[in-house]
Amino acid sequence: MLELKNISKVYKSKKRKSQALNDISVSFGESGLVCVVGESGSGKTTLLNILGLLDSPTCGELFLDGTNVNELSEKKKDEFRSNKLGFIFQDLNLVESYTVRQNLQLVSEHDDIETSHGELIELLGIGELLDKLPKEISGGQRQRVAIARALIKGSKILLCDEPTGSLDPTNARKIFETLKEISKQKLVVVVSHDVDTASKYADRIIEIENGKIVSDKLTGEEREKDRELRQEGEKEHKAIVSKRRKAKQLFGIAARYAKLKPVRFAFMSVTALLIFVMLSLLTAIASYNENSLIARTMHSQGADYFSVTKQVYGVYDETEYGVSGYIGHIKMTELEAEQLEKDFGTEADRVYTYHKGDLKSVSYDNNSHPSVPGFYSTTIQGSVELTNEFIDKYGYTLYGRLPQETNEAVLSEYAFRLFKFGGYMPDGYDKETIPINTRDDLIGKEIRVDRNSDYKSFTVVGILDTNLDYERYDFMGERLDDELKFRYSEFESVYEISPHAVLYVAENYIERLELDKNSIAHVFIKPASTVKGIKKQLAVGDLKMRDNLPPPNADNETNEYCFYKLRNEIVYGVKAVNAVFETVAKVVGIAAVVFAVILVLLILNYFSGVISDRIKDVGVLRTNGFSKWQICLLFIFEALILSAFIVVASIIFSAIVLSVGGHVFKSFFDLLFFPVSFSILQPLIIIGLQVAFSTLGILIPLIRLMRKKPVEIINAGKQ
Ligand code: ADP
Ligand code: MG
Repeated sequence: MLELKNISKVYKSKKRKSQALNDISVSFGESGLVCVVGESGSGKTTLLNILGLLDSPTCGELFLDGTNVNELSEKKKDEFRSNKLGFIFQDLNLVESYTVRQNLQLVSEHDDIETSHGELIELLGIGELLDKLPKEISGGQRQRVAIARALIKGSKILLCDEPTGSLDPTNARKIFETLKEISKQKLVVVVSHDVDTASKYADRIIEIENGKIVSDKLTGEEREKDRELRQEGEKEHKAIVSKRRKAKQLFGIAARYAKLKPVRFAFMSVTALLIFVMLSLLTAIASYNENSLIARTMHSQGADYFSVTKQVYGVYDETEYGVSGYIGHIKMTELEAEQLEKDFGTEADRVYTYHKGDLKSVSYDNNSHPSVPGFYSTTIQGSVELTNEFIDKYGYTLYGRLPQETNEAVLSEYAFRLFKFGGYMPDGYDKETIPINTRDDLIGKEIRVDRNSDYKSFTVVGILDTNLDYERYDFMGERLDDELKFRYSEFESVYEISPHAVLYVAENYIERLELDKNSIAHVFIKPASTVKGIKKQLAVGDLKMRDNLPPPNADNETNEYCFYKLRNEIVYGVKAVNAVFETVAKVVGIAAVVFAVILVLLILNYFSGVISDRIKDVGVLRTNGFSKWQICLLFIFEALILSAFIVVASIIFSAIVLSVGGHVFKSFFDLLFFPVSFSILQPLIIIGLQVAFSTLGILIPLIRLMRKKPVEIINAGKQ
């Protein structure tokens, strides 16, 4: 059943060639205990490895059950090792991270090995050891487990390389007795340098010297038996352990490794976690985008308006050192307002320039309140024709009623608070200031506002609450701490184009008084209801130069051009930190790359460590018929287990750090928004990088491993 024909094996290294086997021809029967003896270095192990398909001969042929092994595929060889061959080495027999039971289960189709192989377990006396780890049992016991495993596999041939090499004489004898017993039904080839013990048990002794067989002796009585058995028909063994079961076992081994070296696993995981959290934070900052931040913030805070202004930009000096110019806010025409409505796809509420100026009737001016920095401004930026639709659209609240006559007006809640702060001043210098406490105190009063160089009087018929965040800005009427300066600038920049600073007049006011409609200070639009929609609106506003806009002064020789600007409190806040963020984003981008490199090195190092750790077990698995690809699976499982843990933990921690970080940043800089946020980007980056890096991590050591013959893996494990 096993026949060698003119087998030679030459090991070639750079410096020298050594012939381990020299033209060996020998055949083995179906059963019997064959001992291969010879001095150390004579070629015994080499011979056994070739018999076990762990190594291939340099030349010559090996027939196993009549099949020429040279012609077999790698897969077929694995199958043979899996089904027909059992190995017992001096050591390197057991998967160290597996219990005895699991080591036996490795080659059994049944989990309950006590039931399926009870007799065998009893025969070998390992019943007590089933739940122990290999390192907890003696050398003799390990060998018996290895023998048991070879038999459970149903191996027809047992190949033993110095199986008693590390055992005391008593245990060595026991092992030989066991092997002798087995050899009644199976072929057992034992390599040993211990000629005395071997000759006591052997049915046949083959002696080799310098790679050549120098004697081959059968004991007389065994000669006949051997012939008989040789004629026995060859039984086909089929694969015992299914692929699925093997995959499950490999997963078990991979999971066990993680538990077995918890410190290493934890170190790797925690480091990767920290790096991933850093990367998340960095990418959140690096991926910062002005418009999407504005849109997200406006959406989440339900910002109620956009103010659209027309800006003119003029270059008055262009030198090699740069460009200097000016920027200003200019009037729009009715046609432009209509154009904007098309661009934004929404109605634009015009703020006409009429009555832009000072609110005269309030008893307050900055000079008389030097400590008050200017939350209360008496400036009015223009007039809006107030309608119920306007109020509903922006979600404002009207106290009182709509103005109906051209001499009636509604003031903003902000203006009311201004009166409450300063008092109402009736027309005429000698009149005393009247305190205003409630909105009703102001309703019915006559107020005077600018009209060109003259004044115009209105009767207040209502107060419109325009949802100004008084809590955020009200303090400015009392004090101005340095730390609150940001809020002050924010308010100041927005106030002049906000719905809080306009006079609300009757519907069709402009038409009724026959005023020119082409005098629009700015318009209000309602922000879109989705983040995407707001972004689109911002993009319209970002148009730097528009062909359909005439330059403000066609005769002007300077290079002037116009663009639209969308503004509100949030836009201001984002713009204010934009410069800082863009710089930070660049620096952070570089840092992210550095961290990613560190992570790659870490993962590469981890997996090359993992593979060298596993090399012993890989050897055991290979000799038990696990294929190269199944070994790959083991490492893939291990990478998956590690990665799953790291990915899940990193995503959770990133989300926490980013939301906490966002809150801290927001309050630290006194902003209305979170500049960084957790998005789909972070999980994508974490998963993507972990998959990429761990693939890379296992790939290189795996390729190295895959190139090796089983014998090389086993030798590596032995060292
Ligand atoms: P034994 O098992 O009888 O002690 P081996 O079969 O291990 O002997 O070795 C036979 C000869 O082949 C020795 O001279 C040894 O140095 C050489 N040899 C064995 N394995 C290798 C190898 N992987 N590379 C080079 N030489 C080897
Ligand atoms: Mg040897």
